[in-house]
Amino acid sequence: MPTLAHQRSQELFASAARLIPGGVNSPVRAFRAVGGNPIFIDRAAGPYVYDVDGNQYVDFVGSWGPMILGHAHPRVVDAVKKAAERGTSYGAPCPVEVEMAEFLSRVIPSLEMVRMVNSGTEAGMSVLRLARGFTGRSKIVKFEGCYHGHSDALLARAGSGALTLGLADCAGVPAEVVAHTLTVPYNRPEVLKTLLDEVGAEVAAVIVEPVAGNMGVVPPAPGFLEGLREMTAKRGILLIFDEVISGFRVGLGGMQGRANIRPDLTMLGKIIGGGLPVGAYGGRRDIMEQVAPLGPVYQAGTLSGNPLALAAGLEALKVLGEDATFYDRLEEMGARLAESLTAAAREAGVPVTVNRVGSMLTLFFTEGPVVDYESAKRSDLARFARWFGGMLAEGVSLAPSQFEAAFVSAAHADEHLEKAAAAARRVMKGLG
Ligand code: PMP
Repeated sequence: MPTLAHQRSQELFASAARLIPGGVNSPVRAFRAVGGNPIFIDRAAGPYVYDVDGNQYVDFVGSWGPMILGHAHPRVVDAVKKAAERGTSYGAPCPVEVEMAEFLSRVIPSLEMVRMVNSGTEAGMSVLRLARGFTGRSKIVKFEGCYHGHSDALLARAGSGALTLGLADCAGVPAEVVAHTLTVPYNRPEVLKTLLDEVGAEVAAVIVEPVAGNMGVVPPAPGFLEGLREMTAKRGILLIFDEVISGFRVGLGGMQGRANIRPDLTMLGKIIGGGLPVGAYGGRRDIMEQVAPLGPVYQAGTLSGNPLALAAGLEALKVLGEDATFYDRLEEMGARLAESLTAAAREAGVPVTVNRVGSMLTLFFTEGPVVDYESAKRSDLARFARWFGGMLAEGVSLAPSQFEAAFVSAAHADEHLEKAAAAARRVMKGLG
């Protein structure tokens, strides 16, 4: 197996670890689940990231989702430069905010009104407050293994980093704060129905990742999202789609467009910032009119609607929107990557399940099927760690956790998919 020099990364990590908890500013980056130390990135371009030791990697992390156009897309970079020259923050309204709101509500019709924030976490925290303010009810229902950011009330049985690190509950979140958060298994509408039959009148919202991405990719089973829509509507419960990953990833209209379901509220993030820190939430006009200053639900932000971040995001969205074949090409590439990974595992006799929706996919080291949190957790994590390390040594960068997605971008071409396929064949052989 090839080895790459990581000396400069090691030195930086040693310095980082003295001053930054775990040496990182977001826990999954620390490689705890896969062993070894993180590589430090010097720069990124198109399908590649380059580390500080000069190694090049074909990148399928894509900054955990945002980089659907690949890294440093010229139009996005140019938009950022132009915006920066006009000042990086005003603390007052600016035209790009209007353009962004118009764009979002045009391609995602359920967004009758929209509010920009700075991260997916903020969108989750805000949308929950709004749902409670609007309905006058306290309880919320979330699904095991879904992650909606790290606000207190949403950290119950969350996926992503919490799942990777094996943290069932988070220290510092008082029991009373999550007492109103009820969790049910993903893809099991009958369990939700039983719960709602009992306490539905106290439930403000059901929040869901319409394509789960934070326990690894788990697609909604046929009828699951429709069932949620029907059950919530009947009981005056708001349905919140967290499309922070799936928004503009699985199609221009997100998963709601693909499934033709209209949630009451939607969270966005990642792609809509073009790689800069942005989140958003929006939905029904009557609900959004409860947000301050129109209504009594307070929510604010010094840097919200930031001209630099919105310029980047809007330009990225325009690039997506201009190309009618964009998502078809991405779908095709995602399918090819999934097929080559499956074939490599089959050849080597390694049991795997590959789940994919469009250009987001996860290779689980389990026979599967993987349909929820319990079945995702059956994956062989030791094998995943060896897979991850093997692929990295081959110059292919994947998320350092079994419970995350790989993302294909428009910058990936045949040669990058082929490189990944050839690497996968070699690495799988060593895992059998
Ligand atoms: N919701 C989902 C579905 C996410 O995947 C994430 C982040 N991975 C978030 C919310 C939180 O977003 P952020 O990390 O920008 O706070």
